[in-house]
Amino acid sequence: MSNTRSAPASQGTEEPEYDLWEPLDPDVAGVFRGVSDEERDYRDRARRFVQDEVRPVIAGLWDRAEYPLDLARRLGELDLLRDGIDVPGLPRQSLTAASLTMMELARGDGSIATIAGVQGGLALRSIAMCGSAAQKDRWLEPLARGTELGAFALTEPTHGSDSVSLETRAEAVDDGYVITGHKKWIGSGSVGRVSVVWARGDDGQVQGFLVPQDSPGYRATTIEGKASLRAIWQAHIELDGVRVPAEARMPGANSFKDTARVLQATRLGVAWSALGHALAVYESAVHYARQRVQFGRPLAASQIVQSRLAEMLSQLTSLQCLLTGLTGAEDRGELSGPGASLGKYTATRTARDMARNARDLLGGNGILLENRVMRHFADIEALHTYEGTETVQALIIGRDITGISAFA
Ligand SMILES: Cc1cc2nc3c(=O)[nH]c(=O)nc-3n(C[C@H](O)[C@H](O)[C@H](O)COP(=O)(O)OP(=O)(O)OC[C@H]3O[C@@H](n4cnc5c(N)ncnc54)[C@H](O)[C@@H]3O)c2cc1C
Repeated sequence: MSNTRSAPASQGTEEPEYDLWEPLDPDVAGVFRGVSDEERDYRDRARRFVQDEVRPVIAGLWDRAEYPLDLARRLGELDLLRDGIDVPGLPRQSLTAASLTMMELARGDGSIATIAGVQGGLALRSIAMCGSAAQKDRWLEPLARGTELGAFALTEPTHGSDSVSLETRAEAVDDGYVITGHKKWIGSGSVGRVSVVWARGDDGQVQGFLVPQDSPGYRATTIEGKASLRAIWQAHIELDGVRVPAEARMPGANSFKDTARVLQATRLGVAWSALGHALAVYESAVHYARQRVQFGRPLAASQIVQSRLAEMLSQLTSLQCLLTGLTGAEDRGELSGPGASLGKYTATRTARDMARNARDLLGGNGILLENRVMRHFADIEALHTYEGTETVQALIIGRDITGISAFA
C-alpha cells in the first residue's frame, strides 16, 4: 500500500542535522511578564553568552573534561557571577535577575552554571555574609568580576549529608591558626585563588577561614572520572597543618548555623539552575519531535508524543510558578528553610524526570553529546545531590510538617 502522506524532508539515507538549541520561552502562567528591564537585561546577557560563547564549545569541553577558565573569566566580565550579592562598584542585582541568570546559564550548560554557583552562590556569599570589612575589601570585587576564583570547602570524605559533624580542625596558635583535615568535592578547589574552609575550632564550633590555595600544606587533587558536570573540576583537598594568620578567620562564622545560613541562601539558586536544565530538555524535545520523521510523519504528529510534550510543559509551568513564588517570598524576607528546601527538592526531581523523558524521545540520538539532552540528563544528577540531597531536603520538609526530626 502506498503512503499518501506528503514526503518527509529527510527521505533517503542522509539524516538531516537537527537544530535543538533555538530558545523557546514557554510562560503559560505569565510568571515572567512582570520582570523589569534590568532583570530582562541580565537574562538576555546570559542567554547571548550561552548562545555565542558556550554553545560552540561545550560538547567538546564536556567530553574532554576541561575546565574553561576563559569562560569563567567572561562570566565575571559580563557580571553573571555574583548571584545577586551586593558588591561595591557594581550595580544592584535583584534576586529575580540573579535567578534568571542561573536559569539561562544552566539552560546552556550545567558546569557553567555550577562555576557561577560556586563562585557567587557559595564563596562570594560566605564572605559577604560572614567576612570582616578587610576580607570584603580584598575579595568581593575580584570574585564578582571573575579575576580570581574562589571555592567553598565544607564537605569531607566521611561527612557529606552530615557535614555538621565535620572533623577538619583549626587549632589556635600564637599568630593565627593551623588547619588540618580533608575536604572532598570542592568546586574550583584546585584552580582558584582562595578557599572558604569550614573547620572546627578549639571551642568545638564550626568556624570559617579564608585559605589561599597556594598555602604550604594545601594539596588539591582534581577528582577524575566524573560522568556529570564534566566541564567544572572538583577537588579532593588535603589540609596538612596549613598556617593562616588570625585575620583569615571570618568573624561572622562562629557555628554551623552560620554555614547553614549561607547554604539556605544558595538553595533557590540551585533550584533555578534545575529549571534551566528542564527548559533545555523541553525545548530540545519539542524541536526534535518536529524535525524527526518516522513512519512518514514528524514524531510530533503522534498523539503519544504530544501527550509527552504536554506533560513536560505542565511540569515546567508548575516549576516556574513555584520558583517565582518562592523567590518573591525570599525578596520579602519571608522564605523559610523548609520553603527553600521544597524549591530545590521539587526542581531537581522535576528536571530529572523531564530529562529522562526527553532523552528517550530523542531515541539513539538522545545519547549523543552533540544533541544536548544527554549532557543535561547527566548533569542534573549532580544537582540532585549537591547542596543537600533529595532525601536531606525531604527530611527538612518532613521535620517541618511533623515537628519530628528523622535525620538520625
Ligand atoms: C558535582 C559535585 C559538586 C560539589 N561541590 C561541592 C562544593 O563545591 N563544596 C562542598 O563543600 N561540597 C560539594 N559537593 C558535596 C555535596 O554537597 C555532597 O555530595 C552532598 O552533600 C551529599 O553528600 P555525600 O555525597 O557524601 O552523600 P552521603 O551523605 O553519603 O549520602 C548518600 C545517600 O544517603 C542518603 N542519606 C544521607 N543521610 C541520610 C539520612 N539521615 N536518612 C536517609 N538517607 C540519607 C543521601 O540522601 C544519599 O542518597 C559537591 C558534590 C558533587 C557531586
